[in-house]
Amino acid sequence: MNGTNFDIESIIQALDNFDNFIIAGHQEPDGDCLCSQLALAGYLKRRGKNTKLVSAGPFNRPEIKNWERFFSHTITDEDLQGKTLAVVTDCSSPDRTGSLSEKLSRIPLMVIDHHSSGDNFGEYRYIDSDSPSTTLLIQHIIETSGFDLTPEEAEYIFLGFCTDTGFFRHIGYGKPDVFQAVSRLVAAGVSPNATHRIITGGRTHGSRRLLGRILDRSRLYYNDRLIVSWEELKDRTELDTLDRDSDSLYHMLQSIGGVEAVAVLQEEEENLFSIGLRSNDKTDVGLIAKNFGGGGHQKAAGCTLNGCREDVMKAVVSAFEKSFS
Ligand code: 5GP
Ligand code: MN
Repeated sequence: MNGTNFDIESIIQALDNFDNFIIAGHQEPDGDCLCSQLALAGYLKRRGKNTKLVSAGPFNRPEIKNWERFFSHTITDEDLQGKTLAVVTDCSSPDRTGSLSEKLSRIPLMVIDHHSSGDNFGEYRYIDSDSPSTTLLIQHIIETSGFDLTPEEAEYIFLGFCTDTGFFRHIGYGKPDVFQAVSRLVAAGVSPNATHRIITGGRTHGSRRLLGRILDRSRLYYNDRLIVSWEELKDRTELDTLDRDSDSLYHMLQSIGGVEAVAVLQEEEENLFSIGLRSNDKTDVGLIAKNFGGGGHQKAAGCTLNGCREDVMKAVVSAFEKSFS
């Protein structure tokens, strides 16, 4: 059964009604996804519930590596017994849960998400595409149900928020409520400086050299309004790194004068590329990604494409034609 969007009280009521929770997110998880799962698990445990955290992984990014030990990669048949609710955070379509999707489809499901596009899946849906992160939706659930935030929950929520906002950089006009929510996180014990070090530190030399390669390959299109580059499979073996630090890469490419949109192709295997898209301004990269079968937000989105690099580049560049010509 598909559901319509629920109000916050009905979501809290639904959480009350179950005893056991399987808390999942999207594959290739990021800070917002995992921190939403972790903060929600902390809160549900305080309510006396049983929780199991699951993720399809992989946990390649250094800022999330430490948390891999909290997550199981599989859901067993026993996990599905009893009054159990699956909760999927930061994930706009069931297939993005990766290897977990089949098991998750067998029990009642709640989706908590802030993506602007996606499938209308799940019996209970709490979707707010105005929210800069999914973790802020978890904060809203915790606070509305009358609970204070623990320092640990506040840290998770803030880290997810900083991941998705690029440390406040992506927040536009008219969001005082967001800063009020963040001020409550600071009051609960969060250090922006410590969070910044967790998100940006611990990188390898190889990951910096990889950024150099990708920057060096970049090409401009449509009177320099679009910039496109790519990462090859062999980069990762030659430089011995799995992590290229997308935020720094996009930051550098988006800071070039005149550039309005960025596309980066990442070779996952031969003839298979994941495409990361960013927009500085009005171009809706969420829509472009959706047309390729992916998704995301107006300013940050992604999809997967098959083909050789030249063909995939051509398809991606052509997709911007409407925006820039
Ligand atoms: P990133 O480029 O940081 O991986 O992703 C940017 C945004 O686009 C995120 O909100 C992410 O969930 C979404 N996104 C990236 N790749 C895909 C994809 O293949 N499918 C969908 N539905 N969303 C994606
Ligand atoms: Mn998110």
